[in-house]
Amino acid sequence: MRSFCERCGSPMAPRHLEGKHRLVCAACKSVRYPDLVAAVSAIVYDAGGRLLLVKRAIQPGYGRWVIPGGYAEGGEALDRAVVREVEEEAHLQVGEAVLSGVYSTPDTRVATIVYAMLAEPDDNIQAGNESLRARWFPFHEIPWEAVYFESTRHAIRDWLKRGSLTRTDRSTNRVPE
Ligand SMILES: [Zn+2]
Repeated sequence: MRSFCERCGSPMAPRHLEGKHRLVCAACKSVRYPDLVAAVSAIVYDAGGRLLLVKRAIQPGYGRWVIPGGYAEGGEALDRAVVREVEEEAHLQVGEAVLSGVYSTPDTRVATIVYAMLAEPDDNIQAGNESLRARWFPFHEIPWEAVYFESTRHAIRDWLKRGSLTRTDRSTNRVPE
């Protein structure tokens, strides 16, 4: 498939540049860099120390557990998009989305932006179209071996670690009675 320069409309030609194969415009020399795709994911927890996981109804990872999320589109703020994903995948209303971390790997073009948000304890959660089930897991009962995506496991672990640090800090700094 022929590719044309977005700047001047001339044909793009493959070149070896900066140690990588790139398309470079024959006329104005502008370089095309691969687009990065953004995804948003939600760490949804309740005051009882439970994390929301959804069981995937689609490939890849059919039947495995993930946190709710999806690709981000232009035209919507990311912290709104992530709340919408939770509503779609678990029919659950959540509070404000707080940035938890950003995850990427060199072998994909996806950057996942992970937000954490508190939900009211709700035991009637229902899975949306892309999930087989939606379920709360106490933090110490997360089925790690069944959690899909390495980045998902990282994101949950990082968030849990930070949470326990905060709790430690709080108890250390407690004002003596
Ligand atoms: Zn050009």
